[in-house]
Amino acid sequence: MNRTRPNPIAIRSPQIATDAPKSAFAVGVLDVRRACLRQPTDHTPIWLMRQAGRHLPEYRALRAKTANFLEFCYSPDLAIEASLQPVRRYGLDAAILMHPRVWEASGHVAGFSDPLIECKSCRRRFRADLPEVQGGQCPVCGTREAFGEARQFNLMFSTEFGSTASSDEEDNKVYLRPETAQGIFVNFLNVQKTGRMKIPFGIAQTGKAFRNEIVARQFIFRMREFEQMEMQFFIKPGTQKQWYDYWKNERMNWHLSLGIAPEKYRFHDHVKLAHYADAALDIEYEFPFGFKEVEGIHSRTDFDLSRHQTFSKKKMQYFDTELNQNYIPYVVETSVGLDRTVMMVISEAYEEQDLSTPEKADSRAVLKLPAKLAPIKLAVFPLTKKDGLPEIAESI
Ligand code: ATP
Repeated sequence: MNRTRPNPIAIRSPQIATDAPKSAFAVGVLDVRRACLRQPTDHTPIWLMRQAGRHLPEYRALRAKTANFLEFCYSPDLAIEASLQPVRRYGLDAAILMHPRVWEASGHVAGFSDPLIECKSCRRRFRADLPEVQGGQCPVCGTREAFGEARQFNLMFSTEFGSTASSDEEDNKVYLRPETAQGIFVNFLNVQKTGRMKIPFGIAQTGKAFRNEIVARQFIFRMREFEQMEMQFFIKPGTQKQWYDYWKNERMNWHLSLGIAPEKYRFHDHVKLAHYADAALDIEYEFPFGFKEVEGIHSRTDFDLSRHQTFSKKKMQYFDTELNQNYIPYVVETSVGLDRTVMMVISEAYEEQDLSTPEKADSRAVLKLPAKLAPIKLAVFPLTKKDGLPEIAESI
């Protein structure tokens, strides 16, 4: 059955929160004057509530701290603290389920896939680009020449919308978003017009993303449901190199501000670029299992906005009052995984100390969280339970 679908752009308007509480995360609409000026010293873990039930309380609190810390880097509050022009703040919490054509426009339906191979013997599946399968031997059962041709496996989860079953499944198909970025692109004009934003400015958002990873493993490093913190920075065409370098620098400064040593990070420039990028790099951190990506920085040109303009038949242009000219803005994106960042912080903070003496073997595990992320900054532990010490400790 063929149904006329609504215009993808009109499918959902942004939830604009002009009176968002001061520490509310989610979203910052910013310009460069406001970005990453100072690091705050204290944050409220308001995300705790949203994450409740998923993880241990300590883990949730740390996660909340990390997200809040990023928020403050992007936050207009910093401008006020730094005595710059106070600015209005807007919030964007884009939909997880968007019109399916959004994902056609973005290229995800056609090309968001990983190469999949299967072992002929034990039937285990692997990503064909992993180093451990390059020799053709199955890393699980050891069979040699175990794999046939790789096939492309689309990573998007799909479901159906509507209350009535349809004989044509394709007609009702919707996707769980595999990245938060497209929610920002399709809402770009809504935010720009409502906020009267002038280029250059950014829209930042945090939220769930879903990928049907061939193999989800290494604890929270690769999951099928995870959280991204992304920012699209909208700029004048031709200035992308300058802004790409700017954000490369700023994001590395943010990582270093977590107190992690510079030698634990490296940039990895992409040689083979994605279809939407004219430059791209990863910020990699040295996990216990090697250097791996925690954040991607991509110069996405006008690819996404142009494609949404074509598919929605709705103009995605910005009128530049200084140039007296319309254009589709270029975009530099910063995209960091919240869960991976938390894993990085925990990897960095965890230490096993040997306290053995000649008389007795002893050890302890210490979690040296950076002070700005630690959910609990200070605790008083009385050495005995006697003499009213617990009460005194409590009162302190
Ligand atoms: P990878 O090469 O590790 O699959 P990617 O290049 O596909 O990652 P991006 O699409 O650039 O990742 O996503 C931005 C960020 O989102 C990544 O740097 C990472 O921190 C996080 N991320 C991506 N996929 C996952 C996942 N499956 N689980 C947890 N975090 C993820």
